[in-house]
Amino acid sequence: MCGMSESPEPVVAGAAPAPQQTACPFCAELIMATAKKCRHCGEMLDHALRAIEDLKRQPQQQQPMVFMNAGGGASSSSSAAVAAGVGSSVSTKSKAVAILLAIFLGGLGAHKFYLGRPVFGVIYLLLCWTPIPWVIGILEAITYIFTGRQKWAALYP
Ligand SMILES: [Zn+2]
Repeated sequence: MCGMSESPEPVVAGAAPAPQQTACPFCAELIMATAKKCRHCGEMLDHALRAIEDLKRQPQQQQPMVFMNAGGGASSSSSAAVAAGVGSSVSTKSKAVAILLAIFLGGLGAHKFYLGRPVFGVIYLLLCWTPIPWVIGILEAITYIFTGRQKWAALYP
């Protein structure tokens, strides 16, 4: 019975090529020549695997820096978005200029052209020989005076 149980081992050893053994360059223990990792000292023997191990170690040290940079970038971009939002609520058209144009050149539609309403400006120009656009211009100047900053920005971005 014992001979039966021992017999498979030599067969297996004979079937597989004789294992080439070599000394580990790190601990000098005998290991398989095809081994990629020494089972005695745990050192990686394969150059590619060693390079991968080194790469795995380096990012772990750099990760905090990367995260800090990412956080800084995110916060700066969000603050830029906030600034853009503030910029959109501030009109590029000066209310004072629009009021002055409406009072003094309102009959010519100058304030309409200035505020980006050229169609209205042309209508005012066509009616400039009548008092209508001049009166409307003065009335619009008054409405401009009482238009809030937010509404002004929404009307004339
Ligand atoms: Zn070793």
